Amino acid sequence: MKLWDSISESIQSVTGKPFEIASQQSIGGGCINEAYKITGKTATGENDQAWFVKLNQTSGLKMFEAEHKGLQELSNTNTIRVPKPLCSGVAENKAYLVMEYIELTSRGADPAQLGQQLAAMHQVTTKQFGYVCDNTIGSTPQVNTPEKDWVGFWQRHRLGYQLQLAARKGGGGGLQRKGEQLMDQFSALFTDYRPKASLLHGDLWGGNCSSDCEGSPVIYDPAVYYGDHEADLAMTELFGGFGHTFYSAYADVFPIDAGYPVRKTLYNLYHILNHFNLFGGGYAAQAESMIDHLLVELS
Ligand code: ADP
Repeated sequence: MKLWDSISESIQSVTGKPFEIASQQSIGGGCINEAYKITGKTATGENDQAWFVKLNQTSGLKMFEAEHKGLQELSNTNTIRVPKPLCSGVAENKAYLVMEYIELTSRGADPAQLGQQLAAMHQVTTKQFGYVCDNTIGSTPQVNTPEKDWVGFWQRHRLGYQLQLAARKGGGGGLQRKGEQLMDQFSALFTDYRPKASLLHGDLWGGNCSSDCEGSPVIYDPAVYYGDHEADLAMTELFGGFGHTFYSAYADVFPIDAGYPVRKTLYNLYHILNHFNLFGGGYAAQAESMIDHLLVELS
């Protein structure tokens, strides 16, 4: 069966409503996948369904299944709007993920509402750090093996994992040597701070956040796991920051610990190492200087 017929059939079988594609429009802006808006006619000819569809090679199925799970997990909290996932699978020679289409505006989210809602989402906690499945950060695998110890989790599955990848991609020498030093020492940043395992978006930069037509915040394209809420907050600051109103609204709901400004660098180091592993170039030097900064803080 052809790709779009097969996707239409899946949509129909999950919603239980007839679905026939009436229009299809390519959507840009993503980093990893092809994306489309499709609308569909009902039996009465009304154009009343709109879906957002991501496509990748068949090997991307696991990635889409993990995104599907993550979106569902975020959506279940009823704290902040995320596209509700519908179905994922393989059709013809493509993997696909279908989710609710949300008309996003260019206005950006109201920062106070975004801060309050994100803080409420972070107040959803569980017993272990990690997640029920691995997922991806960009296109890099993200390991989420559940653990009780956050420091060990961050050592093994975040910094350690990315440092090993970096060694294979030519990021050796000082980066590895200092990285090892940091891995041995960073537990000192957690002597008086014991984070809970909060539900995280996991990839919360400005490009994964917008607002719907009512002006309500929407977040999408997550890399969900349970971890220190500061890890999500740190990422909001990595490429420009979400503004003072956002952070103060957030802190009114979920207070931010005094040690955050230092741990922020530890958390963003993960993303900068990932950028080196994905794009190479100057990110190795940036990662090394972040490690230098942390080692000074720890000395
Ligand atoms: P990728 O996985 O390739 O990075 P994204 O999930 O970031 O793709 O989606 C690409 C763009 O499509 C986003 O930047 C956003 O503007 C838009 N978008 C994402 N999800 C939806 C949705 N459910 N409804 C409407 N537009 C969306």
